[in-house]
Amino acid sequence: MHGAIDLGGTKIEAALLNDQFEILKSQRVATPADSYENLLAAIELQINWLKTQSPQQTLNIGIGVPGFVDQQSGIALTSNLPAAGQMLRKDIAARAGQFIPMDNDCRCFALSEANGGAGNDFKKVVGLIVGTGIGGGTCVNGKLDNGLNSLPIEIGHLPIPHRLIESYKLPVLKCGCGRIGCFETLVSGDGMSRLAKHFVQQIISGEDIVLRAQNGDAAMTKIFEIWLDIYCHMLDVIHLMLDPDCIILGGGTSKIDNLAQKLTQKFQKLSLKNTKIPTILTAKYGDSSGVRGAAMLNI
Ligand SMILES: [Zn+2]
Repeated sequence: MHGAIDLGGTKIEAALLNDQFEILKSQRVATPADSYENLLAAIELQINWLKTQSPQQTLNIGIGVPGFVDQQSGIALTSNLPAAGQMLRKDIAARAGQFIPMDNDCRCFALSEANGGAGNDFKKVVGLIVGTGIGGGTCVNGKLDNGLNSLPIEIGHLPIPHRLIESYKLPVLKCGCGRIGCFETLVSGDGMSRLAKHFVQQIISGEDIVLRAQNGDAAMTKIFEIWLDIYCHMLDVIHLMLDPDCIILGGGTSKIDNLAQKLTQKFQKLSLKNTKIPTILTAKYGDSSGVRGAAMLNI
């Protein structure tokens, strides 16, 4: 049996999983945004709940966090929690009475999908979440690929290629990271809406754009195709830098009908000549993959 906590900006989800990593039960509480002490108390509450739910004397628990945790010092670097710069791993261990591994939530997603998920039969798997934000992780032979900082794949904060900005006359927008023109500004969940605002001066949600495009609206189809093209150029960077066997799509945008096939078709046309492109698949465990991957941090 395994315990897992998905520490999000708005909720803290605790889940108890069996040895096949199937979720048996889960509980959510709101994430305190006011202080580090209250955040620790809420996490401790969830850990204690997990322990009371498990029939085992000791329960291995893992935690997925937004931002990232330095794997040597255990210091959290996150803008979505009142924990930035804190010794999060040490402070949680003190309250829980046991060491609890923690890692970035997008990396947990990749770990889950590489083990029993959509990427199970592939050697080098990139898990990519494109939702409110963008982030990913790489697994090789089912294990997380740890670099100097154990950083998630921060592809959302690389710049959109100039040739795309020129050819479509794209808006160059300020990103949450402080830079301008990042992929995240136009590919994230809100990115499609920003494209609509720029091209047709309409405030319209990404979901509505997709729906209208599916119903044959020409203007929305054009916006959706531009969005796909920018998304594909982001995949191209992953392809050329990491050369993975497959890329697994997660996050809110992965729910778009046949997104993996649409990206594959476009990607085949733009990829570097004579290279095989990675297989693009949709996550098997969807929104549960983060917590499932957090449970795997102990193995
Ligand atoms: Zn950025």
